Amino acid sequence: MTAEIVLARVSLTKPWLGAEETEALAEVVASGLIGQGPKVKEFEAGFSARQEVRHAIATSSCTAALHLALVAAGIGPGDDVVVPSLSHIATANSVTYVGARPVFCDVDPATGDITAETIRAALTLDTRAVIVVDHCGMPVDLDPIRELCDRHEITVIEDAGSAVGSLYKGRPVGTDADMTVWSFHSDKVVTTGEGGMLTIHRADWAARARTLREHSRGPSPTDGQGSVQPRQDVSLEIGFNYCMTDLQAAVGTVQLGRLAQVVARRREIAGMYVAGLAGLKGLRLVVDPPYGTTNFQSFWVEVQPCFATSREGLLSRLADAGISATCGTMATHRQPAYRWRETGHARLQHTDRLTDSSLILPLFHELDTVSIHRIINTIQTAGGGSAP
Ligand SMILES: *Cc1c(COP(=O)(O)O)cnc(C)c1O
Repeated sequence: MTAEIVLARVSLTKPWLGAEETEALAEVVASGLIGQGPKVKEFEAGFSARQEVRHAIATSSCTAALHLALVAAGIGPGDDVVVPSLSHIATANSVTYVGARPVFCDVDPATGDITAETIRAALTLDTRAVIVVDHCGMPVDLDPIRELCDRHEITVIEDAGSAVGSLYKGRPVGTDADMTVWSFHSDKVVTTGEGGMLTIHRADWAARARTLREHSRGPSPTDGQGSVQPRQDVSLEIGFNYCMTDLQAAVGTVQLGRLAQVVARRREIAGMYVAGLAGLKGLRLVVDPPYGTTNFQSFWVEVQPCFATSREGLLSRLADAGISATCGTMATHRQPAYRWRETGHARLQHTDRLTDSSLILPLFHELDTVSIHRIINTIQTAGGGSAP
């Protein structure tokens, strides 16, 4: 047997957690108040301040926040909601949950984001809302979308599930949508294991979403646990159980405090990829648009037909080298769950192409320089370029 250097496997993503999270969790456990309580309130307050929005409602997931947003906006059967097909399937599912019809629209070929033009092509007489998505963290160009939607009295919901820490014209994404949803899933830039947030401008929608979160129990269900007030168990309408726990929120507050540092490191790693891969024929890299900066939730590349190998070929070369990579976001209209549904959409040219040609490379806070160079060298070799 020949001696071989076994290189550690490079994972695709890994949450950055440390002693501070452990301490915060221990404190909550010791307090005995592990449900939705003071830590959730603290996390909501910290999040709304940081994201420059009035109301923040913590939820069990981003999917739950999407569902609450649509219910709060009064979207239901007979309504059409424009959504990009190139997104997490939760975006379209939330529309289906409320009995409305998701109408898929295409995306910009460079950013992978929905635009005013692609939305316009998907409008119907029944369009009541649009869910815009910051694809893989890339800020959506919201101003022209707002203008279009305001003209037609269409509610704008932003699915910033991947975009905490991304900026649009210097401000956090989501500040100008009617409602914005966020994800703290374990793969996201800020994580609570599972978890989400709904941020809202309108006070009446926020109040309704807050009660809907916990079985529509009014009037102040949030301080049930630690409060001496008897709980009022009156449900005003059919609600949900979409609560976050104090265990999660305590971790979330620690994570939020590190957001700037995490985004800076992600952008630094992305910069190393760009420096190492730019100029490789047939590999298109994603860069910041002129109107904003991405958090690089995912570093995706487009493998064009003129690249030396196919997307699948490159994926297996990376796998052979012990590097985890994956296909890019899959178009929702091509998922078995949606393929036979009537979703009234036109041709989704760029969505189809990006589904077939994009690939996501490892990117996480603790990804080390040696691994980054190993990934770059593997791609260089597969692409027929010389390793630097
Ligand atoms: C991650 C993500 C979701 C789903 O978030 P959960 O918290 O897992 O429900 C939805 N939309 C986008 C854009 C996402 O990135």
